[in-house]
Amino acid sequence: MKKTNVICPFCGCLCDDLTVNIEDNKITGVDNGCALASSKFLNTERLEKPLIKRGGKLVETSYDEAIESSVEILSNAKRPLLFGWSGTQGEAQCKGVHICELLGGVIDNTSSVCHGPSILAIQEVGHPGCTLGQVKNRADLIIYWGCNPVDAHPRHMSRYTTYADGFFLDNAFRERKMIVVDVRKTESANVADEFVRIKPGGDYAVISALRAMIRGKSKSIPDSVAGVSKSQLERVVKMCKEAKFGAIFFGLGMTMSPNKYKNVRNAIELVDEMSRHTKFTITPMRGHWNVYGSNEVFTWMTGYPYGIDFSRGIAFYNPGETTAVDMLSRKECDALLVVASDPGAHFPKKCLEHMADIPVIQIDPHLNCTSHFADIQIPVAITGVETDGTAYRMDGIPLRTKKVIETERPTDTEVLEKMYKKILEAKGKCTHCW
Ligand code: SF4
Repeated sequence: MKKTNVICPFCGCLCDDLTVNIEDNKITGVDNGCALASSKFLNTERLEKPLIKRGGKLVETSYDEAIESSVEILSNAKRPLLFGWSGTQGEAQCKGVHICELLGGVIDNTSSVCHGPSILAIQEVGHPGCTLGQVKNRADLIIYWGCNPVDAHPRHMSRYTTYADGFFLDNAFRERKMIVVDVRKTESANVADEFVRIKPGGDYAVISALRAMIRGKSKSIPDSVAGVSKSQLERVVKMCKEAKFGAIFFGLGMTMSPNKYKNVRNAIELVDEMSRHTKFTITPMRGHWNVYGSNEVFTWMTGYPYGIDFSRGIAFYNPGETTAVDMLSRKECDALLVVASDPGAHFPKKCLEHMADIPVIQIDPHLNCTSHFADIQIPVAITGVETDGTAYRMDGIPLRTKKVIETERPTDTEVLEKMYKKILEAKGKCTHCW
């Protein structure tokens, strides 16, 4: 059996043209997807059964007991932290916010360690963005800044930019220009028309130089800016001014290098300068497939995109204080719920040391580094493979992912719904009011 037009639940491209081959409720192959998609659909490294730590060892338990014990840990914690949410559906993210409010805890998603700075910049100066469809059909100049789509978003270039046909472009495949700005020559840089190699930490200076040149202030620019020659900067400015529609995509090379959100703010203002001459847009290259959704859901429910603290009885947001890495490294939280993410693989050592000291509950389909810290593991269905659910693409378009095979495992939403009801009971709250 084949299921067509399946959405890939791996990266922020959310490619919606996959064909999944199925035999006896098992996925045997994926057509149209990249290697990352195949790995996601064919991965067998699963959390198999609910496990709970007893006497220092993980032993098998029932879903009911795993949920009951998780509720006990979270309800008794003074400063619970609920982290992750980028690898699950919007419905589960919504339940997570409700649980956190009930607990008076802190909820944070993975954007606090990826595109959080981009959101801070957007809060200050706005977001001149557009859909990926607009880019595909109209953009004749693409700039990838601090990102490497060939490796991290393998179909971004073939579906939306360099190798895609454009409805309003003649011969888009050959004539669309591409600039890559990065600190090293990546696979993406190898296929660019212009590769701008900047010194690490030089993003802000290079963006500022480009802004000055677009404003006609070339004379004030020295011969070299952060390792980039003035003549190359002039070439880039010329390409930008000659474009009918330019699209910048930026990654963690910009958001997580020195100056962080100031780089993004400066880049947005560069787009503003360029838009005095032609049409320009800017889009963050969101990584985890539904990380954009976690920002959307948290924002429409609390007013804030990540790092939300309910301990005051209202939503409070202060990135750097209420974000997961900061809380864990200050040893502030006394219980951690991790949903659909892997802080065990990505967080600093100081955070991991604290994770080893506090109860950790993991809700995830897969075995990962966080599993080794977990006192309770609750295996769930894979959203977009074993259950459907809502997710947001990197350009903010919500899509409904499909269920392609059956499973006996519950979904994240079902597990969280049960937790929510039990926490209500434990706290003696009225189910009609909450
Ligand atoms: S580019 Fe991303 S969304 Fe598209 S198939 Fe590959 S991993 Fe999946």
